[in-house]
Amino acid sequence: HVVVVGSFNVDHVWNCATLPRLGETLSGRYHTGPGGKGFNQAIAAARAGAATGFLCALGNDDGGRQARALAEADGIDLRVHDSSQPTGTAGIYVDEAGHNTIVIGAGANADLSVAWLGRQAAALAGARVLLSQLESPLDSVLEAMRLARAAGTITMLNPAPANAQCLRELLAAADILTPNETEFAALLERHTSHRIDSDAIAGTPDAQLHRLCRTLLPRGTVVITLGAAGAFVSHREDLLRGDDVPFYRVAAGKVEPVDTTGAGDAFNGALAAAYAAAHAHPFAEHVRFANRYAGLSTEHVGAALAMPRLAVGG
Ligand code: ADP
Repeated sequence: HVVVVGSFNVDHVWNCATLPRLGETLSGRYHTGPGGKGFNQAIAAARAGAATGFLCALGNDDGGRQARALAEADGIDLRVHDSSQPTGTAGIYVDEAGHNTIVIGAGANADLSVAWLGRQAAALAGARVLLSQLESPLDSVLEAMRLARAAGTITMLNPAPANAQCLRELLAAADILTPNETEFAALLERHTSHRIDSDAIAGTPDAQLHRLCRTLLPRGTVVITLGAAGAFVSHREDLLRGDDVPFYRVAAGKVEPVDTTGAGDAFNGALAAAYAAAHAHPFAEHVRFANRYAGLSTEHVGAALAMPRLAVGG
């Protein structure tokens, strides 16, 4: 099964004609719904058919109760670090072109502690795959990855958001790293002497991308998500078996996107679920499923609640 360690936020979303300028007051269409990268990815893994656990911190408030009810409805084994802070929130403005600005109130998410995670070691050890992101305290994410790896659980890190300080220790603890283009460019800049413009990644020759991935994560697999262009995969060459190839692209599904919010989260949850279900199968098969799953998620508006119900192998 899959265990996700990460954030839960109540998203407050305003759709406006334009984004507000400094000092400006606008009106927009409002809706609220559950989000947070961790929770989105846990819902995706569960709806992709994986037995899923979610480790997070929640406040004693409506947001916290909402998270518990939603996790239960999707059959997620929720383990909560009770926080005296309010449950995490995100204020999101979206303009007509789909551009957004976001302010996150980490709240309870900032309380997810190393000590509490240490007490969840058995849950981490029982999983086939641990999936985490960088919306939680980084020392706690690192602790979860170390505990998981020590127990033989495969560690998957989605290094998002791009402006989070992804420490070298975190990279070293990841068996599978899943940046989008912006995150990949930011990681290269932070951790290597190489530079790449995020807009140039999809057009970069595969052999060159592979070399950059190997420089960034010599010991692990790198999966760069490329939006409508699908994903690029780079494997450590000495771990390949039989007919495996070290690097390749997997095309995205043909979809009519209405809202790409959470597409990366859908991809990560689905990839973890597919890998956990059949880890001995060719990795490309899991990436194909993740692309299909993430593509479908863009056809619905919203974050966690837009995750499709599409089981691995279904
Ligand atoms: P993020 O949401 O983190 O920016 P991407 O934009 O790379 O991540 O999207 C993640 C995945 O979602 C892609 O690898 C692809 O599978 C799917 N996806 C995103 N946008 C589209 C699209 N326009 N058409 C088809 N699939 C898409």
